[in-house]
Amino acid sequence: MSKIKEYKMFIDGEWVNSESNKTFETLNPENNKPWAKVPEASIKDVDRAVKAAQKAFEGTWPKLLPRERGKYLKAIATQLRENAEALGKIETIDTGKLFRETKTQANYIAEYYDYFAGLADKVEGTVVPIDKPEMQVITTRIPIGVVAAIIPWNSQMLLTAVKLAPALAMGNTVVIKASELAPVTLLEFGKLIEKSGIPKGVVNIITGLGEPCGKALTSHNLVERIAFTGGPETAKHIIKNSAENLSQVSLELGGKSPVVVFNDAEQENALNGITAGIFGASGQSCIAGSRLYIQSKIYEEFLDKLISKAEKIILGAPMELKTQMGPLNSFKQLENIEKNIKATLEQGGKLRCGGKRSKLSNEGYYFPATIIECKNHNLPSAENELFGPILSVMKFETEEEAITKMNDNKYGLSSGVYTANFGKAMRVSKAIRAGIVFVNTYRLISPMAPFGGIKDSGFGKEAGIESIKEYTRIKTIWLNSSDKPMTDPFTMG
Ligand code: NAD
Repeated sequence: MSKIKEYKMFIDGEWVNSESNKTFETLNPENNKPWAKVPEASIKDVDRAVKAAQKAFEGTWPKLLPRERGKYLKAIATQLRENAEALGKIETIDTGKLFRETKTQANYIAEYYDYFAGLADKVEGTVVPIDKPEMQVITTRIPIGVVAAIIPWNSQMLLTAVKLAPALAMGNTVVIKASELAPVTLLEFGKLIEKSGIPKGVVNIITGLGEPCGKALTSHNLVERIAFTGGPETAKHIIKNSAENLSQVSLELGGKSPVVVFNDAEQENALNGITAGIFGASGQSCIAGSRLYIQSKIYEEFLDKLISKAEKIILGAPMELKTQMGPLNSFKQLENIEKNIKATLEQGGKLRCGGKRSKLSNEGYYFPATIIECKNHNLPSAENELFGPILSVMKFETEEEAITKMNDNKYGLSSGVYTANFGKAMRVSKAIRAGIVFVNTYRLISPMAPFGGIKDSGFGKEAGIESIKEYTRIKTIWLNSSDKPMTDPFTMG
């Protein structure tokens, strides 16, 4: 049996155990065996990390010229590129995500640090056309303070980059809490942060459970900004926690993203886009296109093609380059998927492929690409976020009907439209209540493209030029240009 790897947390530029020396194990989803041990941060550890970040915020970091801070971000980008393969390997072991995806992603994430490095010295203030002739009023953007970044287990490098890069560029300091379901990737990333030479205390990375660690962090009185990505139930706790410190909060939550295929769609393109949208990363993606509406004329033919494509997906070990879908991340997820499928079938859903644990499941949490036909989209698999490779399919007749059905869900993160008609694409894109619409494509990200949802999918945008301002506050400065003394407020004029 291979030896369990031991990790420490990164606080104030040092690698430390938790003060109690408590640890917890992380499992490899491929074989359900523990492979590493990480510190279990207590409330005291959280306090130590936040105080280190606060000290760094009171030091030179926010006073550096923005372009000097940008150089550190570029150094992080360089480290990521040089270590993408090693980092990808660790993320695959810890999360079960495909190596070919984690390695490529680690490389691409470097672009986010470069992008925000470039933006660091381009955030300008304003001169206010004030209604008092002798006054000059200017506004400037200032950093907020200590940022708590709460990260889920999936797409950790991306979800960290969209918080950390703009926060650092604007002069904030950060405490990152990794997910207890896959905590090692961010500790490995901490080594790259250390190599980038960033001053100590500016970035701290802790590992622990939602409670007490996440709770203590998001309610700590020195935290001024909370950037959360995770599930909607956890988000409710975050909002309650933030009542303790009155922090500014952004929430990137789940989704049940609808995708529509019209009769006139280019079918091969739509088949590939839909497959990528729901079966990429085994459906464990917040933007997974998990509700599919197919127009009636092409319904049978298109669905048959989709099923035949889904049945050919190669399920297997995530390090193998030929594997197309790896395991799910946890047993809890597998159980939740099975529960929802069972309920859907009991209520009239028709299983067309997949639907049962793979034989590989004796070891890992493998679940095949699954397609269920649903008479209505209120069946459990069509309504709830399952975070797995489960596609619920419904038929529709008209454009209006498609729009109404697509909007009839509590989430509003992503969506997809497949049609050859430009006007229809425009009309549907405008009518869909979601933060992101993909037309004749799906599952793309970029540092330049704002990302985030509406409704129960959260608020606040990550990535894109505007997102950097989410890590600043406006300061208003009044300048009196008059040589005359101010009038005595208590003298009647
Ligand atoms: P989760 O909500 O269970 O956990 C997310 C993080 O919150 C973890 O670090 C956890 O330790 C922490 N946490 C738990 N309880 C807490 C508390 N009381 N106080 C503070 N922190 C606490 O999510 P998960 O299972 O890791 O990830 C899956 C979810 O994340 C899905 O719903 C998915 O859609 C969502 N997600 C959203 C996006 C997006 O950008 N919109 C991206 C990826 C994942």
